[in-house]
Amino acid sequence: MIFSFAKPMTKHSIVGHLSDTSQALSIARLVVQYVSRHRQSTPWAAEAGGQLFGTLNATHVCVTEASGPYAGDERSRYRYRSDSAAAQRAIEDRHKRGLLYLGEWHTHAEDYPSASGLDDDAMRRLIASSQLNSNALLMMIVGRARSAAGLAVWSVSREATRRWTLSENPEGT
Ligand SMILES: [Zn+2]
Repeated sequence: MIFSFAKPMTKHSIVGHLSDTSQALSIARLVVQYVSRHRQSTPWAAEAGGQLFGTLNATHVCVTEASGPYAGDERSRYRYRSDSAAAQRAIEDRHKRGLLYLGEWHTHAEDYPSASGLDDDAMRRLIASSQLNSNALLMMIVGRARSAAGLAVWSVSREATRRWTLSENPEGT
């Protein structure tokens, strides 16, 4: 069999922009599929979540992998907290493969997710307590609506929480 062209390992299916920077966000199709499997589409489903990994440079944040949830997590309908030892193992494992820890994801039992005050606080505590090279982390919340409409992503730093404008990438479907 002859392949006429090489396909990329992952295709970016969601892209994001912030109003005040030229940096672009790409979320690989595999990541969207991974987190979508945990959408809280039944009335009894608990929140799920985990960590986000990928690459980062001045112009582009690329989310290429997601991990979690883990057996030791604290999970309920309206709360998620990663097992910190399992999260740390996931971060070290991805680091060995050259992937950076970029942030956290979790689900919400709402169609179009918004961040709660608790979510903001949790991210700020995480940034304050970690020895990260970067001073900002991604926070992705996965709602019940399918694809880009059901996803919300923020960049959280000590100074500010900014929401990315997301759209579906026509080249990544
Ligand atoms: Zn939340």
